[in-house]
Amino acid sequence: MTKHIFVTGGVASALGKGLTASSLGRLLKNRGLRVTQQKLDPYINVDPGTMNPFEHGEVFVTEDGGETDLDLGHYERFIDENLSRDSNATTGSIYQAVLNAERRGDYLGKTVQVIPHVTDEIKSRIMRLAHEDVDVVITEIGGTVGDIEILPFLEAIRQMRLTVGRDNVCYVHVTLVPFIGPSGEQKTKPTQHSVTELRSRGIQPDAIVCRSEQPISDDLKNKISRLCDVPVEAVVNAADASSIYQIPLVMHDEGLDRAVCDLLHLEGEPQLDIWRALVKRIESMTRTVRIGMVGKYVSLPDAYLSVVESLNHAGFEQGIKVELDWIQAEDVEGLLAEGRLRDLDGIVIPGGFGERGIEGKIAAASYVRENNIPCLGICLGLQVMVIEFARNVLGIPRANSSEFDEEGTVTPDPVIHLMDEQRNVTDKGGTMRLGAYVAELAEGSQVAELYGKTVVSERHRHRFEFNPAYRTRFETNGLRCSGQSPDGMLVEFIELPGHPFWVGTQAHPEFKSRPNRPAPLFRGLIEAAAHRKEGRNPHLLSVEDQTTTS
Ligand code: GLN
Repeated sequence: MTKHIFVTGGVASALGKGLTASSLGRLLKNRGLRVTQQKLDPYINVDPGTMNPFEHGEVFVTEDGGETDLDLGHYERFIDENLSRDSNATTGSIYQAVLNAERRGDYLGKTVQVIPHVTDEIKSRIMRLAHEDVDVVITEIGGTVGDIEILPFLEAIRQMRLTVGRDNVCYVHVTLVPFIGPSGEQKTKPTQHSVTELRSRGIQPDAIVCRSEQPISDDLKNKISRLCDVPVEAVVNAADASSIYQIPLVMHDEGLDRAVCDLLHLEGEPQLDIWRALVKRIESMTRTVRIGMVGKYVSLPDAYLSVVESLNHAGFEQGIKVELDWIQAEDVEGLLAEGRLRDLDGIVIPGGFGERGIEGKIAAASYVRENNIPCLGICLGLQVMVIEFARNVLGIPRANSSEFDEEGTVTPDPVIHLMDEQRNVTDKGGTMRLGAYVAELAEGSQVAELYGKTVVSERHRHRFEFNPAYRTRFETNGLRCSGQSPDGMLVEFIELPGHPFWVGTQAHPEFKSRPNRPAPLFRGLIEAAAHRKEGRNPHLLSVEDQTTTS
């Protein structure tokens, strides 16, 4: 029988419920259990695909093309399993299913209600993941107890106790223990209130994860245990950690997996050697590189969460700490004048939508091409590199993407364009090229060297493509189209022979990077960046030496 763990949050949002759920998933997987994870989001959008990154952060794309919540990225990175579109459901998608069923007449003339119809649909989404080959499903409920929208979800998970039996269900509640400066104390009252709220919905937590800035004392744990009616061994403290990858070890030391497994009658001990070695590597990094992230949503770093983690993963492998310089794309021209990009060891031009900041990204791509600074362009990043090359090397001054030329009046040279079958689509949901696609890499190319093979699969999320009508002009002028779709129609990877690393991909390799297995292109960027930095330093040293000895 598949076991179910439900993770809810109280007191405040953004406490790290997703990381708690992911860390627990990692600990259970290291006990030899087959684990999958899911996020239920109480908002009404059918999926986050249409949401502005400023609202919601990154849209995480699954292998099967699901556009999902960014917490799924944490899940995949921590439990090292590919999830699917079924691993994320929103109120919108649940109501959509219920309303479609109502229109089809599936409810046989009954009044359709939140209980039981909406709650049954929520339960069916949870049960869908409980296949035979899954031992544990961890379901995180988005939002905070006390929110109006969360009620049907709490009701559904409360009913799950009866549906699958008490021994097969565990409720973990994540709360905040704040430090109140003037009184110099950590406070348990918000936790008590939030547990009271949860109980008023019929759910008694089995474990409480207390987030805090500083560690909390045993006295405080005892108090929470008493007042919330949770055994003290199941009151665990997750104080702020310097790396998110430490959290599974913290949770284990605090006894979270033991408490959960005792309750669910799961045997064993986790094998944590590999994870401990990873954390040790993270803690002992001595080299650094400075990478500029040239994007449109840089004021909300969550918009680029998987890209940031991929850079970190590549650094972990090589003992290099990646320091990020967030560069607002619209500011690039001014920053170039100040020489600000000169001292970077590399840049990333990440994905994005819409025209704002495009000219700045083109300027950045041009500067790093001419100055031999390593650059990785992802999706829109590849597209701006292509536009840059067309304008400045091929001499096509008005080259552009038809994404920024809806009327077809701005550019006579759409070097990036819409594929025919995607014109005239008005529904904004799921009209993109989404999910995993295979590409063939050119033998001997930089990207084939990095991947160590010539057939690769990466996830996609875009509408526009390299326009093949211009391909020969690009190639005769030095740009290498080093990866393409198996039918040869779509350019998937570009690189510039002779440049240390000026590589673009139409895909999003950041979605497949794992802490112990960095995505090849990020590894390539960080290696090239370290080479640039460390190749430069001896020179700088010798200049200093000269001045000190003279
Ligand atoms: N806006 C571009 C397109 O739709 C790039 C998308 C992206 O970077 N994910 O093709």
